[in-house]
Amino acid sequence: MTPATKTLKVPYSYLPRQFADIDGVLAEIKALVQSGDFTLGKPVTEFEEKFAALIGTKYAVGVGSGTDALFLSLKALGIGAGDEVITMANTFVATAGAIETAGARIVFVDCDEKGVIDCGKMEAAITPRTKALMPVVWGGQPPDMPRVMEIASKHKLPVIEDSCQGIGAAFDGRNCGTWGLMAGFSLHPLKNINVWGDGGVIVTSSAEMRDKLRLLRNHGMSSRDEYAFYAYNSRLDSLQALVGLREIQNFRWITDIRIANAKTLDAALAKLAPKIRLPKRDPRETHVYHLYQFHAQRRDELLKFLQGRGIEAKVHYPIPLHLQPASRPLGYKKGDFLMAEADAAATMTLPVHQHLTKEEIAHMISSIEEFYAA
Ligand SMILES: *Cc1c(COP(=O)(O)O)cnc(C)c1O
Repeated sequence: MTPATKTLKVPYSYLPRQFADIDGVLAEIKALVQSGDFTLGKPVTEFEEKFAALIGTKYAVGVGSGTDALFLSLKALGIGAGDEVITMANTFVATAGAIETAGARIVFVDCDEKGVIDCGKMEAAITPRTKALMPVVWGGQPPDMPRVMEIASKHKLPVIEDSCQGIGAAFDGRNCGTWGLMAGFSLHPLKNINVWGDGGVIVTSSAEMRDKLRLLRNHGMSSRDEYAFYAYNSRLDSLQALVGLREIQNFRWITDIRIANAKTLDAALAKLAPKIRLPKRDPRETHVYHLYQFHAQRRDELLKFLQGRGIEAKVHYPIPLHLQPASRPLGYKKGDFLMAEADAAATMTLPVHQHLTKEEIAHMISSIEEFYAA
């Protein structure tokens, strides 16, 4: 280590770098505050149009968070008590939380060796009570969407894509978010396209779903004085839409740099096999690297070693959902989903974000090499 790399910090959060120059947005926010157009205003409509165009769906509906995007999509299908929704056990808690909040039963299945939903196991978990499939773009990596859609159409089930980590991800050149009936995206500060707090988007090409979702997010108000049904308050704020509109303009370079950073890491870490095992990269997939994950021998030691070097490596996540206290009522046990359990025990995540410098990436690589050389 040179003296310079000794003090190098490689932060996981890039927000201070991303928002170092905010005068432009602040001027727009000032104008918004003066106009009083806070809820479902012009910036929200504009953001929805741009977002739908970016993903390639007819419509987008801005909501309060990615979790709400999933929950409201389930509600738009009338899913609730007595229904089952299938997702994978190694996803982020919000996927399962959305199903539970909708009143349905969470049905977990295992992931495959790439960490995305195992389609064969998903099909085997379908029962007469299954009302929707919720595959997840995991870490920016798309599930096998052609296969998911084939199973869905065979069993006449709607697909709600959890694309919260998947802006720009694609399979066979077709974007995540355009496969299912609806898809939820998150604008959380640590997602690839982000805002200054919470925000989410549902995309769909169904006018029927769009109309339902617009009512669901806004008290069921069909007009100021008439309410079609009792519903929720989950709107994307105009202020967040302004921030989101700026970030959408950055989508291409953010995505390209993340992919390029991942390629650099892949090339270096592949040489450390079998101590490090990279997920299989499938040329049909466009992985947008929300997370850069791999299997590492002596994972916990490596994690500590890197953290000691100022590198904010993390684990996503150390306890799979079926083994969480929250899942106790569902009756799962250790051994139910071996791939998810193996991932929880051995994968780790390195920073891969668009604000990393070449020196920071080199520091991560040389630190990992040094750990395994010792
Ligand atoms: C972030 C995330 C969500 C939830 O998004 P929020 O905007 O934080 O509510 C849902 N599913 C997955 C897979 C996520 O990563």
